[in-house]
Order: sequence, then C-alpha cells, then structure tokens
Amino acid sequence: MSTSAQDGKPRPETGTPPGDIPPTEFRAAMHRVADMLADYLENVGRYPVVPHISPGQVREALTATPPQEPEPLGQILDDYQRLIEPGTTHWNHPGFMAYFAITGSGPGIIGEALAAGLNVNAMLWRTGPAATELEELVCDWLRQMIDLPQEFRGHINDTASTASLLALAAARQRPRDCAIRQRGMAGRNDLPVLTVYASEHAHSSIDKAAITLGLGLENLRRVRVDEQYRLDARALREAVAEDRVAGRRPICVVATAGTTSTTSVDPLRLIAQICREEDMWLHVDAAYAGAAAICPEYRALMEGLEEADSIVLNPHKWLFTPIDCSVMLLRDAETLREAFSVVPEYLRTTDHDVTNLMDYGVQLGRRFRALKLWMVLRAFGVNGLQERIRYHCGLAGEFARWVKAEAGFELCAPAPFSTVCFRAVPELPAKQQDRFNERLLAEVNAAGPVFLSHTKLRDRYVLRLTIGNLRTRREHVAQAWELIRGAHARVSGWVRHT
Ligand code: PLP
Repeated sequence: MSTSAQDGKPRPETGTPPGDIPPTEFRAAMHRVADMLADYLENVGRYPVVPHISPGQVREALTATPPQEPEPLGQILDDYQRLIEPGTTHWNHPGFMAYFAITGSGPGIIGEALAAGLNVNAMLWRTGPAATELEELVCDWLRQMIDLPQEFRGHINDTASTASLLALAAARQRPRDCAIRQRGMAGRNDLPVLTVYASEHAHSSIDKAAITLGLGLENLRRVRVDEQYRLDARALREAVAEDRVAGRRPICVVATAGTTSTTSVDPLRLIAQICREEDMWLHVDAAYAGAAAICPEYRALMEGLEEADSIVLNPHKWLFTPIDCSVMLLRDAETLREAFSVVPEYLRTTDHDVTNLMDYGVQLGRRFRALKLWMVLRAFGVNGLQERIRYHCGLAGEFARWVKAEAGFELCAPAPFSTVCFRAVPELPAKQQDRFNERLLAEVNAAGPVFLSHTKLRDRYVLRLTIGNLRTRREHVAQAWELIRGAHARVSGWVRHT
C-alpha cells in the first residue's frame, strides 16, 4: 500500500517499484560509452591540455537544481560530451608534462569499469574474497618486480598521502611503551615528544600526516639536502642526536626515492643504517619513482630500498593505472594492523587465515582497485612496462640535452628519471629572472598543446617538464621544446621593450 499525494489516503499498489534502468538500455549505453572512450583516447591530443574556460563556467552551463523526473541516458551522455569532456584538464593528453604525468591506459580503464560493475566492498575477506586475494597478489607481483625480499606484503590505498599517514601511524605504534593507541598523546607527562625526520624536499603529504596524527609540524624535522637535493645523512644524524639530548623520542624517518621537485633519491642505505642504530621506522616515499624501480638500472639508484619498513609507490602515477591506486608495501604489516584493527561484533567472521583489509588502515569500505592494476600488469607485462618507462626516461634525457645545449637556458638539477628541471637565464637581476620564467611558463601553457609546471629550488623559480603519459612521443617533447623556445623569444622581446 502507498498513500496518495493528494489526500494521504491509502491507495492500491499499481505495480512493482521501479528498479535500475532496463538491461537493454544499459547495454546500449555501455556500447556507446565504449565508442566514446575509444574516440576520446584516440583524439585527446586535439584538445588543449588545459581547457580555455573560466572558473564557474562548467557549473553555469548545468542546471542548478536536481532533475525531478528521470532523464534518458542518451541525453545525459550528450551533456557529458558537450560540457564535461571539454571542460576537463586532460591528464590523458600526450602534451601533459606537468606535475607527474599519468595515464588511464586501456587495460586500466577496462579494469575500472569491471570493478564498478562488481561493486565489491572488500572490507573483509568474506565480503570480497577475489578482491582481497587479487590485491595481495598484485602487491606481491610488484614486490617481485622491484626486487624486495619476500617478507614485504602489501595492500592498496587511494593515494600515497594515505599510505604515508598509515606508515607514520605504524611508526608511532612500534614503541609499545608509549601505548599511543590506548592512551593517546594529549596531556601526558610521561610521553616524550615524538619526532619524525624528512628532507626539506619531502612531499607535503608528510606534513599532513604529522598534522593528522597530532605529532605536530614542529616535530617533523626538515633535514637539509645536499647540492643534488638529497637528504644529508650527516645532518639527519645530528638532528636525531640533538633531539635525544633534549629528551625527545625519534620514531621515524621518511626518505624519498624521487622527490616531487627534482626526483632526487635520498641515500637510502645510509638512512637505513641510522634508522637501525636509532630504532626508528624507515618509510620510503617512492610515489613516483618507485615505478622506475621495475627496471634494474633504475632500481640500482635506490640501493637500500629493501631495508625500509614501509614503501609507497603509485601505479596511478607511472604504471599507467587510472587514478586512484597506490601500493603500500610493509615489512612489518602486523604493526600497522595493531595500530588500526578494531573489530566490532557486526564485522566478526569465522574465517581463519584470511586477510581482512579493513584491519590495515582508517577506512572500512574499500574499492576493488587491484582489478585495474592486475589488468595493466597482465596486458603490458613486465617487459612492456619496462620498455615504456625506459622510453620516457630516454625522452627526458634528450630534452635535458637540448636545454643544456641552448644558450640562455640552464638545467637546475640532475634528471635521473623522466623529469627535467630547467629555466631561462636572461641577463637580469634574480627577481626579474624569476618573473621572466613565470611569464615564459604562462606563455607556453596558454598555447594549448602542452602543459608544464614549476617549482622553486633554492628560492629560484624553476620550470619542470615531466614525461609519464603513455601517449607522449618524441614529437610531443620536440613540440614542447619549440614552444618553450618561441615563448622565450617573445618574453625576451617584451622585456627589451619595457
Ligand atoms: N609523494 C611524492 C614524492 C609525490 O610526488 C606525490 C605527488 O605527486 C605524493 C607523495 C602524493 O601523492 P598522492 O596524490 O597519491 O597522495
């Protein structure tokens, strides 16, 4: 029985309540979506990488109130094509060379679609046996691919930021005498100040982890770097010693293999030794460059990685898996489980010897992210992935050589992987040089075919070009270089006339 909207009196049922859209409609829409995506990926290079739109423009083109009545899927897909696709910054574009370039590859997109179809919530093994076991398997495949010992086991989070937060939580759990899980940190006279160390160039996600865990930003010691932007191990040793003398308790070092600005690799072996001596957890943030470690020659740049307690690498950055997909590998997963496992009655099962992924982090529900990574690893194979990584690094090397050979430009840091830091060096005072480079970047990006980003190194404005998209080929990098040189000539002209 339902009630009439007019008089509120009961009226007889007129039929079953509506369910999902009919299967025939779904099938037709999915066929169309397959065509749309294939066309998009084939032609994405025709768009400007960053859309030429103003803030608010997308929203204004859409209805402000929700639809009261059902709308045909075809019409919604038309709007997607008309408004959403062109209003997007195209991370799948071959000219996307900003930040760390990424790719939603064909196999990855298919995996994402299939995962959406299954709609598994793998909080427990029982609620997602295949999802749980595939997650463990693909993490172990990656472990083998980057040559880590067998004791490492992994799971998948959304992002490296989450993984680093979990790593710091595990590091804080390890000194059992602190009893943080039970007693917390607030108002305790018996608890020394816990300190964490990372280089000046470590990612901002480490600051966020320190904030979130209540460690406090001032207890995240930013250790100075050497001339190649690598954490200075001697300075780390000194900082730890100083903190001990002051009665603080060093618990963790976050080393980076592939820093965000320059992709420098901290001296992992030396840092691991300090961590062992000082009983500190070693977390390695290899969010970007961890992918390159599947090639032995790049893995060799990360000597000591195998001594870490935890490592994060992002297949969604440089292993061609659609965002989000971040793999965390732990030598001591049990400590992470101890930090987070809470099992209320309604989540208790009788399964033994199974992994319940909810135990290894903050979230309960979890997406089936392993499926897309499994598809990518199988469809490209290790050899195929290595070939692509090497191609990208080769392109970056060639770009760096062009910059080096060009008067009026300089390289600003070593480029061990696929990211190059460089800038124009016009004969101007330092501040004006920075403004020159800012204008240069704006000019290059306004053109449309490429998108670069910037950073600051030793307080100087520096441009960054990074290669990580599967569709980027030599001609796109050459085009970027031509656009940079053209913009350089224009900005030089303006400077001469002002
Ligand atoms: N760590 C490093 C070294 C990074 O470069 C980045 C992002 O570029 C992150 C962590 C954060 O990654 P995510 O977006 O997965 O949190």
